[in-house]
Amino acid sequence: MLRISNISKSFGIVKALDNINLEIDNGEFFSLLGPSGCGKTTLLRIISGFELPDNGEIILNEQNITNTKPYNRPTNLLFQSYALFPHLNVIQNISYGLQREKISKIEIDKRVNAIMEKTSLNGLQDRKPIELSGGQMQRVALARCLVKEPKILLLDEPLSALDKSLKEKMKIELKKIQKDFKTTFIMVTHDQDEALVLADKIAVMDNGEIIQVDSPKILYSSPKNYFVANFIGKMNFIEFNASNNETNTANKKLLNSGIIKDKNSKSILGIRPEDIYLTINETLNFEFEAEIIHVAYHGQEVELIAKSDLGFGEISIKADKSFHNVEKNSKISCFCNINSFKIY
Ligand code: ATP
Repeated sequence: MLRISNISKSFGIVKALDNINLEIDNGEFFSLLGPSGCGKTTLLRIISGFELPDNGEIILNEQNITNTKPYNRPTNLLFQSYALFPHLNVIQNISYGLQREKISKIEIDKRVNAIMEKTSLNGLQDRKPIELSGGQMQRVALARCLVKEPKILLLDEPLSALDKSLKEKMKIELKKIQKDFKTTFIMVTHDQDEALVLADKIAVMDNGEIIQVDSPKILYSSPKNYFVANFIGKMNFIEFNASNNETNTANKKLLNSGIIKDKNSKSILGIRPEDIYLTINETLNFEFEAEIIHVAYHGQEVELIAKSDLGFGEISIKADKSFHNVEKNSKISCFCNINSFKIY
């Protein structure tokens, strides 16, 4: 549906976007994810028409919209701050855009009522923004965008203004609303958890470039390189350095196990906390020892922070709640399958 082709953009000497290529399907919840300054907002602004690229094209349904003005594009941008009109009530805020399009009053009422129902805003029609909670304001802002029936809704960090518990609730609501409307959503976020929960597909960006585009599941299970592995979910990293493998017992252990095949290599190994087990079974063919440094209690689950005999830094291990009272400095045996290690 949307093809972003060879898009580049510089601000003076800063290259904000470097030859971006992306394809986004109709009805997809797509997320642009990356650290601060990686260029995701610039890309969103180029898709919305508020910014023009130096090079490249934006093609929507086979139509080149690269130079089309924002208000002539079938896109709508949900601002981070919601940008509601403070002097207008909920109904007036939602219907404002339609009134400007000179749509009949009957049609406006029909569309506004339908959208109020779908975004659970019934009963709040007469309230001004100041009389709404954060979650309600966010739903009004969404309703105001969706009532115009855009082909694509662009969302700039839509949950960043909400506190933690409301954010969790709105994540589910946002996903439900998107599936209900079947509108294509493109959301910018720096929060990997938000992207993993909400998006059908994620483009991970760094330094003005797209590093990997995949479903949340594939990004998590098969991150393409160290940057993505480090950015998506929690990963324990262990360094194998050939230059000291003669003297380093940890390196020898990795070589003997077959995890590292080339003894002259210099590699970083990654393993997810949940791929480390504290009891053995027949699929687990690698064992190492670890010393507990800290126990973090998360209710049903416990995170053990430990120093392993694989040598390098602290690692995180997921454990069940029976480990809550494990003593600091106690030694534990850890088991994993050598195929769970990813090598970068
Ligand atoms: P954040 O998550 O912090 O909003 P981002 O990934 O959205 O970051 P952008 O806002 O797209 O990043 O910025 C990309 C780069 O371009 C940054 O180095 C930023 O400082 C620079 N930049 C963005 N807009 C402008 C501008 N109008 N003038 C100058 N530099 C800009």
